[in-house]
Amino acid sequence: MTEFGAVRVHDAVLRHVEESLRSGAIKIGDRLPGERALAEQFGISRASVRNAIRSLEVMGVVRSSTGSGPNSGTVVVSNPSHALGGALRMHVASQQLPLKDIVEARIMTETWALEHAAAVSWTPEQLDDARLLLEAMDDEGLPSEIFTLLDAQFHVALSALAGNVVVSTMMESMREAIRDYISEAAARQGAWEEVVHVLRAHHHGIFDAVEARDGVVAARLVREHIDWFYGQAR
Ligand SMILES: [Zn+2]
Repeated sequence: MTEFGAVRVHDAVLRHVEESLRSGAIKIGDRLPGERALAEQFGISRASVRNAIRSLEVMGVVRSSTGSGPNSGTVVVSNPSHALGGALRMHVASQQLPLKDIVEARIMTETWALEHAAAVSWTPEQLDDARLLLEAMDDEGLPSEIFTLLDAQFHVALSALAGNVVVSTMMESMREAIRDYISEAAARQGAWEEVVHVLRAHHHGIFDAVEARDGVVAARLVREHIDWFYGQAR
């Protein structure tokens, strides 16, 4: 098969899945037909089907597992930040997306999210995820790599209160894009003990402002927090 033909076959499978999702013919949690059935349906090789499935997996649309258990096969999932985060990270690595620009975009997104979080309605229970993460980060014995993971989740949990799924996805993606940079920066910090002390205080301030529904203060504190860490890490 020519390369052109392979691309078209691959696109046809992706288009079919997209249309089936849009029409509701397949939904999150559904299983896609097996490789053999799809190959017959499209009149293509099983290798082409595998390539198409692999693309969907990279996009965070399906999860495949081999074997014959109840969890095997190709299941439709929703993991929108997976593809976006992975792609952004690659372009940060190739230095085509400057770190400084990602940091600025993250500040823009997150200050918007916290301002809105203060303005829209949510129940006290919806703050619990962020609160649990905040408390977990107070553990003095936490290794820096665990702290930075919880830190990322904390920011996502607070921003989620704004109720905008696209903004939450963008935030997760941007954080994913600079994941390695943040853990390297944390590991490089000779005085991690002092840094983590400041980060903890920042997080408590941000959390309290959101809980008090003071969007202006929450936005200012989160901006200062991100700026401060970026300044330390450089
Ligand atoms: Zn933080």
